[in-house]
Amino acid sequence: MQLSKQNIKLGRIRTVLISHLHGDHYFGLIGLISTMHLFHRKHTLTIFAPPELEKILELQLKASETCLCFTIKFVPLSHEGTKEIYSEEQFSINAFPLEHGIKCYGFLIRENPKQYRINKENLPDNMLIQEIITLKSGKNVLQDNGTIKYALEDYTHPPRSMRSYAYCSDTSYNEDIIPYVKNVDLLYHEATFGDEMEARATLTQHSTATQAATIAKKAGAKKLLLGHYSTRYKELNPLLEEARKIFEETYLTVEGETITLNE
Ligand SMILES: [Zn+2]
Repeated sequence: MQLSKQNIKLGRIRTVLISHLHGDHYFGLIGLISTMHLFHRKHTLTIFAPPELEKILELQLKASETCLCFTIKFVPLSHEGTKEIYSEEQFSINAFPLEHGIKCYGFLIRENPKQYRINKENLPDNMLIQEIITLKSGKNVLQDNGTIKYALEDYTHPPRSMRSYAYCSDTSYNEDIIPYVKNVDLLYHEATFGDEMEARATLTQHSTATQAATIAKKAGAKKLLLGHYSTRYKELNPLLEEARKIFEETYLTVEGETITLNE
């Protein structure tokens, strides 16, 4: 329902990452899968999740006598430490452990190294395709005798930066995750509670906004997004203010808002 409210086309979703099996993180999945089925999805849907979810989905589909019109490729997550679980031409995904009582993973999505961008204004008409490919890969084009024919710096702009996004929910304050999200461009870190509920955060293995900000600061993140707020908070600005005392570049996530990662 939320995806369709935001006009996000379900067909564009190829991969689902489930961090852990507390209900608020996956009870909606069978509904999403059923809607994809009703829309006659053809493409495979890949789901990364703790292993128990596979049996749960099977039972749900069996009980409703649903024979899906598309394939689910289920990839169980049970490794220790960080591991690359997915990669394609443009980006890769790593899953790493969070501390939440139940088995729980965070995800780091990183763009792969990009090519140099050709400066079209400077390009001689007689440059060969192979020479353009060489420049794009970050090398000078050489003559047969080894001297430079086209210098990289004369005909290209440097590659765009590789953007990265890390998702950490749910977790208690745990400095072990810092190396996994070092220097990330955008860090989403749960902030279920404010400072006044720190003891409750520890007890329930969640984090306060201040703790989220501390992780962002220690990890050298460029920007922090807070989320997963306890329903007790009708007003979220106090959480934001607490976090900004530690880490200025903190923002609240709000359902339906878009956050853009700069090129
Ligand atoms: Zn949880």
